[in-house]
Amino acid sequence: MPPVKSIASADRLDSRERTSPSCSVQISVLGSGSAGNATIVKTDEMHILVDAGLSARQLLARAKQQGIEKFDAVLLTHEHSDHVKGLGVFLKSHPVPVYTTAQTAYILRQSGIAADWKTFEAGQRFSLGSFEIQSFSILHDAVDPVGYVLAHGTEKLGVLSDVGHVTHAVTAALRELSVLFVEANYDDELLMADTKRPWSIKQRISSRHGHLSNRQVVSLLEEIAHPALKKVILGHLSADCNSEDVAIAMIRRALQSRSCGHVEIHCAAASEPRGWW
Ligand SMILES: [Zn+2]
Ligand SMILES: [Zn+2]
Repeated sequence: MPPVKSIASADRLDSRERTSPSCSVQISVLGSGSAGNATIVKTDEMHILVDAGLSARQLLARAKQQGIEKFDAVLLTHEHSDHVKGLGVFLKSHPVPVYTTAQTAYILRQSGIAADWKTFEAGQRFSLGSFEIQSFSILHDAVDPVGYVLAHGTEKLGVLSDVGHVTHAVTAALRELSVLFVEANYDDELLMADTKRPWSIKQRISSRHGHLSNRQVVSLLEEIAHPALKKVILGHLSADCNSEDVAIAMIRRALQSRSCGHVEIHCAAASEPRGWW
């Protein structure tokens, strides 16, 4: 092992001891689903809010419940209201920089949100405090949606939410993760059996620009699961067209078939914060 790596490993061991027995990066999902999405990624030094799709009041109350009252930055995946609805009000009390693509920032500026915008092109890599962040383009019916890999020391957290179809580029970006936060929006059978949604909505959800099914998450994990993957966190579960038990059982089987039965599987919830993981 090159000497530089062992010095860095020793540093990380110290910070790991202060945070969690297994991870120097931890994640708490404040809320996830069509009613609103917001997640906190934290290290000892930084608290990053990924999406701000809860009302600012809810977002701050749930963050406080998780012991977080200070934020360093916001990272946005796309401009849909279930991902940005609390952003404007949140920034009034927490005027932190907002990282997003230039096109997404443009749309949000047009809608009247004032922020310290830090824009990038989808696919670009940038630093945010102690994180190296790789953005990547995803297919979803938004102006310029992206996923992220947040790397911190040896930890690599992948964030993939609101995506209709997993391309080769997305799969490539998500290799060698330690933690994956991924949308598992619907179960194919439950979506088809749902009587509340008209056919056109079901088609939009399952299209290449819609959302990911449990089966699509299984296919993704068959490509990217590896021995150092520690956790899979499932988000954006549809209340009518998915269930935690169904999703977790499918993902568990997929991981076990890849000799990755050790991976923890967690589900984010719509109405309460969960984590830290
Ligand atoms: Zn969404
Ligand atoms: Zn969306």
